[in-house]
Amino acid sequence: LSDRLTSTFKNLRTKGRLSEADIDATVREIRRALLDADVAVPVVRAFTGAVRERALSVEVSGALNPAQQVVKIVNDELVAILGGENRPLRLAKNPPSVIMLAGLQGAGKTTLAGKLALHLREQGHTPLLVAADLQRPNAVTQLQIVGERAGVPVFAPHPGNQGHGEVDPGFGDPVGVAREGLAAAKARQHDVLIVDTAGRLGVDAELMAQAADIRDAVQPDEILFVIDAMIGQDAVATAQAFADGVDFTGVVLSKLDGDARGGAALSVASVTGRPIMYASTGEKLTDFEVFHPDRMASRILDMGDVLTLIEQAEKAFDADQAEAMAGKIASGEDFTLEDFLQQMQAMKNMGSMKKMLGMLPGMGQMREALDNFDEREVDRIEAIIRSMTPAERRTPKIINGSRRARIAAGSGTSPSDVNGLLERFAGAQKMMRQMARSGGMPMPGMGNL
Ligand code: GDP
Ligand code: MG
Repeated sequence: LSDRLTSTFKNLRTKGRLSEADIDATVREIRRALLDADVAVPVVRAFTGAVRERALSVEVSGALNPAQQVVKIVNDELVAILGGENRPLRLAKNPPSVIMLAGLQGAGKTTLAGKLALHLREQGHTPLLVAADLQRPNAVTQLQIVGERAGVPVFAPHPGNQGHGEVDPGFGDPVGVAREGLAAAKARQHDVLIVDTAGRLGVDAELMAQAADIRDAVQPDEILFVIDAMIGQDAVATAQAFADGVDFTGVVLSKLDGDARGGAALSVASVTGRPIMYASTGEKLTDFEVFHPDRMASRILDMGDVLTLIEQAEKAFDADQAEAMAGKIASGEDFTLEDFLQQMQAMKNMGSMKKMLGMLPGMGQMREALDNFDEREVDRIEAIIRSMTPAERRTPKIINGSRRARIAAGSGTSPSDVNGLLERFAGAQKMMRQMARSGGMPMPGMGNL
């Protein structure tokens, strides 16, 4: 998407209010990006509609071009739908807090149970895992292995629950196990109980009823719906079924490793309004993250680079300053040492963008400039320029040997430093004149993105 957007940017240099054509062109790209990320079609439709509405009524910002501005609106909306800030786990005032996991078979519940247990243990909690999945023969064993790795005890069905030491599929009473697990947590003073449950390959009534029964038996503080990030278009129906069936309080996106763009996040969040709280990103216990809506938004759009650029451009460069400089250059007015200093300071602020610049077409020249740019230089340049008289700043040509010595002494530099700066300035001035002739903007203005 970055490439496509960058080319859209190139075509959009109009100033003033965002035009419908600008908005539609960018919204089309956004729609494609969302569909590529496997966001459910109705969600894409509703979302792009809302973005279009908002873009039409928004004031044009000086710092961003129209396409960038639409992208920013898109990003802000995405972050808002994804929950804004991360919502932390709600723990009970009177422990144990009960966290129940729900989701389809293979979604990653058991794996997540271990990850969450480890995460909580590292935060000083004393979790207990409960194996309330008695559907598959090895589900209990799997949780026991996971628990052992996480260093967290597992409450498994005892012989009374299924008649013998082995667990038969469909045998035993998962609701009873969950209830006993809760009692055990209280007795052994665990402050968090994590209840692993069974899933089916598809949503079915029996499964949902069992989950609801477990819920009623243990009264969870959180019900986390675990959903495979790769589920694609089925995300909406599945999430809706679980929202209706057990009414979850939060979402965990699993298998968000590799290339998964995680469009399901947007589908689930927008259909259910429930916050996404964690992401599972691999098979290892430590492949687990607290979910950050802003990071997810750029991942879904697949243009973190562009977004970072936009953010930095807004931060690093005052819009009025950019306009003033552009106007000055376009009108052929001279580029002064003060302007030069301003540019250097803007470049210093943009130092952190260095890596990304190379990825964007047309930014090669700027990237090269930043590569050769020493941030500490800026302070020295500032000192030198501040040590000049206004006349010297206006007309550097008048700087002779004695003036040079005075400036060097005043700025704590050497006469050759002063010379070096003047040479660089002369080079920049020449470049600015060339830009003025070709109608371009000065580099840090980002207007030629
Ligand atoms: P459950 O049926 O919901 O309990 O799902 P499991 O926890 O048993 O996971 C199903 C499969 O997906 C297992 O092979 C896991 O190793 C794998 N898995 C779970 N979470 C992730 C993840 O975040 N990334 C990857 N790559 N695999 C995962
Ligand atoms: Mg499982």
